[in-house]
Amino acid sequence: MAPTPSDKKKKRQTVAQNLRKSNENKENVIPCTPSVSNPKSPFFTLRESRLFNVTNTPKRGISESPVDTTPRTPHNVYSYKKREFTGPSCEKLSSYASKTAKDHTKNVSDHYQVIHNSLLIELMKQTVCERCQSKWNGDLATANREGLYCSLVFTCKCGHMIKIGTSKCCPQTKMRDVNIRCVIANLAGIGHQGLAKLFGILNVPPSIDDDHYSHTVAHVLPSLRAHQQNSMSAAVEKACTESGSRQLSVSGDGSWQRRGFSSLNGVAAIMSSSTTAKVLDIERMSKKCSTCIGALSIKHVSREKYEAIINKHNCEMNHTGSSGAMEVDGIYRLFERSQHLYNVQYVNYIGDGDAKILPKLLNNPPYDNITINKIEDINHFSKKMLHRLQKIAQDLKQTKIDGKNDMMTNFKYYYRQAVVRNKTNLDEMVKSVWAIWKHKASTDLEPHHEWCSPIFCGFTKAWEEDKEYDHTKHSLPLAVMNAIRPVFTELASRATLNRVLNGSSENANESFHSILWSFAPKNRYSPGTIIDVCVALAVLVYNDGYQSIIPVVEQLTGGEGGYYTRLGMERFDKLRVYYEHKKKRKEDVRAKMSVEERKQQQDDDEQLDDAYLPRAY
Ligand SMILES: [Zn+2]
Ligand SMILES: [Zn+2]
Ligand SMILES: [Zn+2]
Repeated sequence: MAPTPSDKKKKRQTVAQNLRKSNENKENVIPCTPSVSNPKSPFFTLRESRLFNVTNTPKRGISESPVDTTPRTPHNVYSYKKREFTGPSCEKLSSYASKTAKDHTKNVSDHYQVIHNSLLIELMKQTVCERCQSKWNGDLATANREGLYCSLVFTCKCGHMIKIGTSKCCPQTKMRDVNIRCVIANLAGIGHQGLAKLFGILNVPPSIDDDHYSHTVAHVLPSLRAHQQNSMSAAVEKACTESGSRQLSVSGDGSWQRRGFSSLNGVAAIMSSSTTAKVLDIERMSKKCSTCIGALSIKHVSREKYEAIINKHNCEMNHTGSSGAMEVDGIYRLFERSQHLYNVQYVNYIGDGDAKILPKLLNNPPYDNITINKIEDINHFSKKMLHRLQKIAQDLKQTKIDGKNDMMTNFKYYYRQAVVRNKTNLDEMVKSVWAIWKHKASTDLEPHHEWCSPIFCGFTKAWEEDKEYDHTKHSLPLAVMNAIRPVFTELASRATLNRVLNGSSENANESFHSILWSFAPKNRYSPGTIIDVCVALAVLVYNDGYQSIIPVVEQLTGGEGGYYTRLGMERFDKLRVYYEHKKKRKEDVRAKMSVEERKQQQDDDEQLDDAYLPRAY
C-alpha cells in the first residue's frame, strides 16, 4: 500500500528529528557553518587581523568575522585604515570601494565544505531510512561526476535512494558553480594542469577534462571581458576628467609571456600616466593558435571535420612576424583604435627605449593632424649610465670601477635623481649631472663642489657647518674619473638630457605586467584564451582591486559570489593597501636615516663613497 501524503510528512519529520538529535551529540557534529561558535575566524590569523581596519570590532580587528553581528552600513564596509603613507593602490581601491559598498556577508553558510566520504556515510548512519524506518545502513556511490561537481547517491539496504548534487547549476548553462570557479582560479596562477596537481595531492577527484575546461573558459571569457572593458572605459573617462581634455598622455609597453624573442604570446598595454595609473587598453598578441594546431591532428583522418573546426573557431593568432615586433604592432593597434573605441587621442607617449614604436607612430600617424610627442621613460633612460660604465669597465679591466657593480649602480641612481629633481629645468639638470662627476673627482687639494647641494654632499655640508672634511676615502682615483669622463660628456649634454625634460616613468606598466604574468606564469603552457582570462583578471585587479572580481563571479554563478570569496578578495585588497603603506613608510624612514647616518659616519668609506646615498635626495 502506498503511503499517504501525511504518512510521508511524518516520516520526513522523524528523519529530521533524528538528524537533529545526532547533531547534538558533540562527537559526531559536522558543522555546516564556519566557526559560528568560534570567536576566531579560521580565515584570518590574529596577526593578520591586526593589519586591518577596525570599524565594527575594535578589539579583534576584523570586521569581517562571521561572529560579527553588528549591522554594516555603507560607511563601514570595505574601508581602508587611514594611514600616513599611502599610495596609488590605496587611492584606487578606496575609490572602488566607495562605489560598491554593499552588505553581502550575512549568508555565512554560502560556501563549500571539504568533507571525506566516510564522514558522509557516518552522518547517514545516524539517520533513519524514510522507507524501511530502520537505522540507515547502506552505500555511497557517485552517479555522475564533472570536475569538482558530482551527484552522490546514498542507497539504503532496503534499496531506497537519496541523491544530492554537490554544486549548483549556473544560469543559462549546465555548468556547475564550482567548475566555473576553477577557471577563475587562474587568479592564483593555476591553470588546468596546476589544478590536476592540486586536486591530486588533496585527494580530490581530478578537475574537468581538457575539453570541458576549454568549454568552460569559452563560457567565462565574455563576462570577464565585459567587466574588463567597463573598468578600462571608466579609467579613460577618469583620465580625461583629470587632464581636462580628450587628448591624453599615456605610457605604453609590451611584454612577453616567456623571456626572449621566442615567446608565442605577449601583450601590449596602454596606461594612463597619472599618479593612479590604470590600464586603458590592452591587446593580447599570439603567434600561434592552439585550435589550429590541435585540429592538425585530425586533418588527415577527416578533412571535413578539420575544416568544420577551422571555419567555426575564433582564431587566436593575430600576429605574424617576430616576437620582437609584437610590441610595436600591438601598441600601434591600440593607438589606432582609441578614437573609435573611446573618442580620445593619445598625444604624449611615454615609451621605453624601443626606438621602433615612435617612428611607426610618426610615419603612419594614427590621427589626422596630430603629431605624437615622445617622452622618454626616466628609468630606462638612466640605465644608459649603467650600460656605458659597464662597457668602460670591460675595456679597462684594471680600473677600480671594475668589480664595483654597486658603484656603477649608484652612478645610475644619482643620474636618475639628477634628472628627476630637475625634471622641468634643463640648465639645472645639466649642472646636477656634472656635479656627480665633479664631486667624485674631488680631492682635498682640488675640491670641486660648487654645483653640489648640501643635501647629498658631505663636503658642502661640512663647509656650511665650518667643519673639516677628508676626501681621501670618498674620491675615486683620477685615472678612473678620466676614463668615465666621456660618459658624462655624452649623458650630461643638453641634447641628451633634453629628451627627458618633463619626463615620466613607466613604473606602472612594469607593475601591471608583473601582476599579469603572475597569473599566467612563464613556465606554464597557456593558449591565447587562457592569456585572455589572465589579462581580464589582471586588468580588474590592477585597476580596481581583487574585489572587482566578485561581480564577475556573481554574474557567472548567479549567486552572491560566496562568503569566503568575498572575505578573501577583501583580504587581498587590504593586504595590498597595507603593503603599499609599509613600503612607503620604509622608504621614508630610510631617507631620514641616511641623513642622520651621514652626520655620524662621515669617515666611513662605504657611506662616504656614496655621499650620494640612494634615497638621500
Ligand atoms: Zn531503508
Ligand atoms: Zn586558429
Ligand atoms: Zn660635493
